[in-house]
Amino acid sequence: MLKGKTALVTGSTSGIGLGVALALAREGANLILNGFGDVEGPKAEVAALGVKVGYHGADMSKPADIAAMVAYADAEFGGIDILVNNAGIQHVAPVQDFPVEKWDAIIAINLSSAFHTTRLALPGMLKKNWGRIINVASAHGLVASAQKSAYVAAKHGLVGFTKSIALETATSPVTVNAICPGWVLTPLVQKQVDALAAKDGVSNDEAKRRLLAEKQPSLQFTTPDELGALTVFLCSDAAINVRGQAWAMDGGWTAV
Ligand code: NAD
Repeated sequence: MLKGKTALVTGSTSGIGLGVALALAREGANLILNGFGDVEGPKAEVAALGVKVGYHGADMSKPADIAAMVAYADAEFGGIDILVNNAGIQHVAPVQDFPVEKWDAIIAINLSSAFHTTRLALPGMLKKNWGRIINVASAHGLVASAQKSAYVAAKHGLVGFTKSIALETATSPVTVNAICPGWVLTPLVQKQVDALAAKDGVSNDEAKRRLLAEKQPSLQFTTPDELGALTVFLCSDAAINVRGQAWAMDGGWTAV
């Protein structure tokens, strides 16, 4: 379905981003990966699906790096057709103890990076008369939790940003939406499972159960594959009139 398109998925060396990249590659899209840590493993997984795969190591907290990544996409892939703003970090602390540098990093990586990629990639999409922008927000883009002020502020901001750009592009063939996962068992969440296990003095499995029971009525983690399938749907022709939505996939978290 997406043969001939190029997708840039930020933060795609791990977790949700990698799951989304693989789902898009299964539909034939060429992929530009981004993120830290092991690069060769994810690149090989995507390449095994028979698509062209590239990588740019832009630090998503740095606007100049982001501009260099979009220039790389233009030069090596002829532009970006599908932009998935996924890179993100978390830090948990009460607001009076929240480290200022963590606040700044979360706002830069989880929110401002989407502004920079969007402002740089959108003109090419409009020129080519096709485009999809999908912002990976969170259930925390719709509701709050204590001790996550920066993350909740960034994700609510990302949902608001999504709506604005969806309105600006409403009569164009470019759609802009957010997806809002609940708990997904990735390294970002495993850190929170570890912290809960240590705090409550329980096993890893019991900590996972408690984490889910607190927020996610389905008691099941959402998976990167499920989020990949939702992303593929948002890229389909059938989704042309889905615009400015914040689509939850959260096991009922935000239904309460
Ligand atoms: P993860 O830690 O597995 O992956 C994060 C990715 O972002 C990695 O590839 C990492 O290298 C990259 N990254 C981090 N900082 C970066 C930077 N400065 N520049 C470039 N890349 C950077 O986390 P994940 O759980 O897969 O999270 C992906 C997105 O999904 C995040 O935006 C997160 O907020 C969101 N999300 C996660 C969950 C969850 O339960 N895991 C729930 C809702 C939303």
